[in-house]
Amino acid sequence: MVGSDVSGSETTTEPQRILFIGGLGRSGTTLIEKMLNELPGTFAVGETLHLWERGVRDEERCGCGEPFASCPHWSKVGDMAFGGWDNVDTDRVINLRWKIDRSRRLPAILAKHRGAEPELDAEQREYLDYLRPVLLASAEISGAEVLLDSSKHLSTAALLALDPTLDVRVLHVTRDPRGVAYSWTKQVDRPEADGSLMPTYKPSRTATRWVTDNLGFDSLAKLGVPTLHLRYEDMLAHPAERLNDVAAFAGLTDSTGEFDIPFLDGNEVRLMTAMHSVAGNPLRFGGDDITLRLDDAWREKLDPKARATVTRITRPVLSRYGYKP
Ligand SMILES: [Zn+2]
Repeated sequence: MVGSDVSGSETTTEPQRILFIGGLGRSGTTLIEKMLNELPGTFAVGETLHLWERGVRDEERCGCGEPFASCPHWSKVGDMAFGGWDNVDTDRVINLRWKIDRSRRLPAILAKHRGAEPELDAEQREYLDYLRPVLLASAEISGAEVLLDSSKHLSTAALLALDPTLDVRVLHVTRDPRGVAYSWTKQVDRPEADGSLMPTYKPSRTATRWVTDNLGFDSLAKLGVPTLHLRYEDMLAHPAERLNDVAAFAGLTDSTGEFDIPFLDGNEVRLMTAMHSVAGNPLRFGGDDITLRLDDAWREKLDPKARATVTRITRPVLSRYGYKP
């Protein structure tokens, strides 16, 4: 963003492009985020939804490995956006996040998109007044054209898309719900928070969320938020083609129409760019090269009864996203 004003009060600059990675957790979004972070002109900020609790308050580790408070990127963001993180009323913004940036408040957010009551509520405005400077400062400091926000939650995407200083485009990621359900039954460490584990969920709960979340992203697209659907399985099968699709959607494609993807060699991804993503899946810490391989352990390991339950719950919408019962 050139000549931008971090307060967002100037309207002379183009809206800041945000590629919002949306979808259910354990759908391969972290891997996709890492690959997109390698594209020239992008910068992954991580899950801004969790920035206030896990970053500012708890000082968990950034994707670069440093505690949040000593990460060079996030220190600069705090200075530029607020004159230092100490000036942020952390309790207030966390309180706001839990009040308005959650699934049960979606009707209130979508109502603004429908235009029935286009004026934002005072609390929605206040919440965006915290988020916007963080995003604009991240863009300015990194020099990125497109920020990657991997908050995943529909409510966050819908709120950000209400901000006229942001050009929010949603990358709606899906993965076979049986794979997602299996993944949520497994125990995963959170190395950034010593000794704690990521939560686990029952397959029936994951299946229900799979249906409601994906249909929710479809609704947001119908309300005019630019959206590209990406199946995780397709990204693994045809990474160069799908990365080109996403780059074009994000407005990154160069004049030849084909994006150069030097970090990809067949199904090997060479990770060369530092990640300063806050919060998110522990996979974001790994700096090594990645071999793209479809993880379909669920076909063997997901209990047949649980598999049948997930298929039954998701069946009405499976084919809509290109999956088979
Ligand atoms: Zn960092």
